[in-house]
Amino acid sequence: MPHDHDHHDDPHALLPPEPALRVKALETLLTQKGLIDPAALDEIIDTYENKIGPRNGARVVARAWCDPDFRAALLENATAVVSDLGFYGRQGEHMVAVENTDAVHNMVVCTLCSCYPWPLLGIPPGWYKSDAYRARAVREPRKVLADFGVVLPENTAVRVWDSTAEMRYLVIPMRPAGTEGMGEDALMELVSRDSMIGTGLAVQP
Ligand code: FE
Repeated sequence: MPHDHDHHDDPHALLPPEPALRVKALETLLTQKGLIDPAALDEIIDTYENKIGPRNGARVVARAWCDPDFRAALLENATAVVSDLGFYGRQGEHMVAVENTDAVHNMVVCTLCSCYPWPLLGIPPGWYKSDAYRARAVREPRKVLADFGVVLPENTAVRVWDSTAEMRYLVIPMRPAGTEGMGEDALMELVSRDSMIGTGLAVQP
């Protein structure tokens, strides 16, 4: 839910106790009253979680891989570039794109709660909001990456970006080798959600 870090020191104060339970209770009540259709609800959640969200981000990344001018503009002012594509709104107001290279691997966390670029990546995965990820991403990023199956060369630095209500980050993963002949649409399929959070790499075709 939207929130402002400036006004609350304790993010948990913003949440009711056991929010999942309360949501489930609400859903049950609304379904019993015939006000919502659980299947429709699942469809909406699936849309944000799997379809719209990460695909918008993947489109941006694939275009950055193909178009040097677009890439330069994105790195210069991501907010303007993604807004022009129609990817704006709640939790996507101020975007920064950070690019992975052989020298540096970027990874995104919100240590305080779960700030995340919704218009580009959809709803954050459960682990992104977990206490463990939020604490460990900063303290031992390489171990966290290893848990995700990502092992980087020794000489690749890991840079962790802490999201806030004011700033959301999009990681531009490295373009996989052997994809030189591929177009934007095909490249999109290689851009996983996790690769744009920095806990994964782009898929090798
Ligand atoms: Fe947050």
